[in-house]
Amino acid sequence: MDTVLILMHVEKDAVPAKSALEALGAASEVANACGADLAVGLVGESLQPAANHIAGCGASQFLGVAGAEFKQARYGSDVAAAEAICRAAKPTIVIAPATSRWNRVVAGLAHRLGGRADTHVTDLVAANGEVKITRWYYRQRMEAVLQRTQRPWVIALEAGCHAPWKGDVGAAKVELVTATAPAAATRTTVTGVKTPASGQQTIRPDAELLFVAGAGWTKKQADGQTHAPEAESLIRGFLQFTNASLGSSKSLVDLSKDGQPVLTLMTHLNQIGQTGSTPRHLKGLSTCCHGEEPHAVGWRFITERRAVNLDPNCGWARGKTDVLYVADAFEVMRKVNALLAAKHA
Ligand SMILES: Cc1cc2nc3c(=O)[nH]c(=O)nc-3n(C[C@H](O)[C@H](O)[C@H](O)COP(=O)(O)OP(=O)(O)OC[C@H]3O[C@@H](n4cnc5c(N)ncnc54)[C@H](O)[C@@H]3O)c2cc1C
Repeated sequence: MDTVLILMHVEKDAVPAKSALEALGAASEVANACGADLAVGLVGESLQPAANHIAGCGASQFLGVAGAEFKQARYGSDVAAAEAICRAAKPTIVIAPATSRWNRVVAGLAHRLGGRADTHVTDLVAANGEVKITRWYYRQRMEAVLQRTQRPWVIALEAGCHAPWKGDVGAAKVELVTATAPAAATRTTVTGVKTPASGQQTIRPDAELLFVAGAGWTKKQADGQTHAPEAESLIRGFLQFTNASLGSSKSLVDLSKDGQPVLTLMTHLNQIGQTGSTPRHLKGLSTCCHGEEPHAVGWRFITERRAVNLDPNCGWARGKTDVLYVADAFEVMRKVNALLAAKHA
């Protein structure tokens, strides 16, 4: 019988990360649809609490590689652990959440097992024993559905594409597998994690709403003056009230290097678009941004889009948004923040 294996890292919490639970949800559906066994492979310092959290997922086996040397993200030890689990479970399909940690490992793992790997997978469909994946190309402009004959097939599933698995906590019996990581595989040590301050505060992948600011916030307004400090305070205020994630157009984040008025809460990490990111949020609100094609390709996975722009002929007006408010974003956001403040008071 075929086996679908889900790989997870057990990081600092006992509860597996949301992306891991999403990948588990997908793996469980694929296993059910194909009549395959589901196996769970855990890697980390200690595994039992995380295994117990997903005890009710229907897996026929819980395999684990445990130990201090498998706690930190490091290609050498991560691939050795994943390989040991795969050799024990003999899976046909291996699914991992597309975290930076697993993305780094899946190609090497597939090579070691004589299989194939696909990354940036956004959907998995199984019917009549056949598994198909969906993947986007050319910066989310083209969608392809793929099948492979080679096995094992190692698949890294992007976050936010599948409902997370939910079920009963229980007592899982974890079968420990020995992974040998040679000395050369453990010579890298993670000494700490540094996150840009603005990223910590403003990039929130799990937020329901994406708020995008464009270069218009720093342009001369009707009074012939720029109003960058007020723009910054309006945007900050909105983010504090709503916990929205903050995105930017390329023009706005590029301004700092051109010596023009800037919003200090913005870095290139906030940039959305062809050369920026493609985040997933239920709703998006764009302000003072023109909505040009290279920017709007980053909105591919935003379900409901709205934009505020003074220009009725802006790019958003050409079918790129559900609702366009032709209005002054300063006025709109002043009013919106006042309403939010009243609501919170
Ligand atoms: C190869 C390539 C890749 C690119 N990749 C990206 C990318 O990844 N992401 C990206 O964003 N761009 C990208 N660009 C750049 C993109 O083409 C645009 O230049 C950029 O998105 C424009 O940014 P903007 O809309 O903020 O600025 P602008 O084009 O200057 O637009 C500012 C807007 O603000 C409006 N405005 C001004 N004041 C107000 C006000 N008070 N109220 C309401 N509206 C107001 C104006 O009407 C105007 O529409 C790329 C370009 C190329 C060539």
